[in-house]
Amino acid sequence: MSSDPRAPDHGRARRSLGQNFLVDPNLQRRIVDAMGAGPGDEVVEIGPGRGALTLHLEGSVRHLVLVELDDDLAAHWAQVFRDRTDVEVIHDDVLRVDLPAVSTDPGALKVVGNIPYNITTPILFHLLRRPRPARIVLMVQKEVGERIVADPGTGAYGALAVGVQSVADARLLFKVGRKAFRPVPGVDSVVLEIVPHAPPRLDVRDEADLRTLTRAAFQWRRKQLQKTLRDHPDLGLSRERVEGVGADLGLDLRRRPETLAPHDLLALARAIR
Ligand code: SAM
Repeated sequence: MSSDPRAPDHGRARRSLGQNFLVDPNLQRRIVDAMGAGPGDEVVEIGPGRGALTLHLEGSVRHLVLVELDDDLAAHWAQVFRDRTDVEVIHDDVLRVDLPAVSTDPGALKVVGNIPYNITTPILFHLLRRPRPARIVLMVQKEVGERIVADPGTGAYGALAVGVQSVADARLLFKVGRKAFRPVPGVDSVVLEIVPHAPPRLDVRDEADLRTLTRAAFQWRRKQLQKTLRDHPDLGLSRERVEGVGADLGLDLRRRPETLAPHDLLALARAIR
């Protein structure tokens, strides 16, 4: 919303902070609408930047927390909202912010952001730590969004898909072309919706074991699972154990990891624990 007088006059975009600002007002509105946040909601926005989403959101939710790492932008928004009790500005790296701690009801929190693409995966895993928010709407690089929602058996399926899909429902909402940003980035984007399972379907131990197996398996994604189970330093099962587990589960462990759905990987993670 560059026409809004509260938008900062912010000089050059900082590449190191992933600053590509969304300048299309229709898309700004669509993303905020996709959040579905109302007057009772608490919302965290990651990286308000020049206010593309912020200026559509402020005033319409109970509590809005803006997390911005850029010194000038954080100072700008702190100044703009200095007299507002419903808007809080946190000048920090989102990865260092304990989001549940800034929220009055972490399980009901909604998170939105057109995030810096270079730290998409760390941000996702940070957001998906327990207690998880109710709903997350993020703009991400198109290829990364496709990896998050990927089905087994596809080239895009891997540790990211299993990690997200085992704790949440994820879907792509719409595409955003690169020309909707200034400066124009070298990639296209998608808006992604993530709704964490509530209550969580897996217990903490299942989640940890699944993560260990998935990381190892997809680090060696070209290898048969039986080899990874035996030889990967994080796993190291004996040949006999691998054969026993395969027989017990009725799983052919000569398969490669990308052919296994998240529930098969979970069964395997439990069996080798
Ligand atoms: N929301 C704005 C928009 O849609 O135009 C800005 C989006 S821009 C892609 C990403 C924003 O995240 C920038 O404002 C940048 O300064 C901020 N940012 C970058 N790294 C960050 C971090 N680690 N923690 C919080 N904000 C960060």
